[in-house]
Amino acid sequence: MTDVTFKKAVTPSEIIQTDSYFFIYQNNSIFVDDSKKSDISIPILKIDDALKLKLEDICFLGSIGDRACYSAHTSSLDQDIGLKSMNVRALYEKVDLLFWNVAGYARQIHDWNLNFKYCGRCGQKTERKEDEHVRLCSKCNLMSYPRISPATIVAVVKDGQVLLARGVNFPNKKMFSVLAGFVEPDETLEDCVKREVFEETGIHVKNIKYFKSQPWPFPDSLMIGFTAEYESGELVTDQEEILEASWFSPDNLPLIPSKYTIARDLIDWFVENNGS
Ligand SMILES: [Zn+2]
Repeated sequence: MTDVTFKKAVTPSEIIQTDSYFFIYQNNSIFVDDSKKSDISIPILKIDDALKLKLEDICFLGSIGDRACYSAHTSSLDQDIGLKSMNVRALYEKVDLLFWNVAGYARQIHDWNLNFKYCGRCGQKTERKEDEHVRLCSKCNLMSYPRISPATIVAVVKDGQVLLARGVNFPNKKMFSVLAGFVEPDETLEDCVKREVFEETGIHVKNIKYFKSQPWPFPDSLMIGFTAEYESGELVTDQEEILEASWFSPDNLPLIPSKYTIARDLIDWFVENNGS
């Protein structure tokens, strides 16, 4: 699959009439084809067959190779559509990275179609525009685009140690990670980093530097990564969001996030730059 890429588009090309990839969602689950028991894959369906499965909100996303890609919603059970449902995050490393990335994009387009069926201002049913990912209200003209919620995530370093915390909402309660939080209206990304780190741990930071970003479709974040240095303050955890926070050396790390996360990339960066 190395030469094949995903080509994003909004209007299906006339060339694409054959079998297509369907990224089918229900809540936090994606439906996969596990008929080849050793392997799981994104289901390949003809449009007519997809319609027979009563998929809803079928939305064209682009193409992978000569196959079109669609996101869709189903309310059906696994056995009714002959596919197996699994948690979206669990798909990682079970399919090629290309498909994992498109699955994330499809998830966000799916959620947008599901969550913006009605106008948030006047309650009228919205219609999806043909040539752009926007849902339009015919009554008051409000336009609803796919929602993206920016969040900052930061590795704070002090004397060769990194600040990691156990969050109240982490799926694994033993796991520690770098601090993260949603950007509020009126904030710069740097303001957000400073506020989140202080609110959650009582620490002031300086030298905030951009690291990289990662779309995080769980459900609709864009994680914007930073590194920062400790400036002042004593560790005090805000028990509402953080159960425990501490400074860790590269050779004494706790359980940390998996490889595909920007959190892990930040911790790996810290280890590379502070290891012996
Ligand atoms: Zn409206």
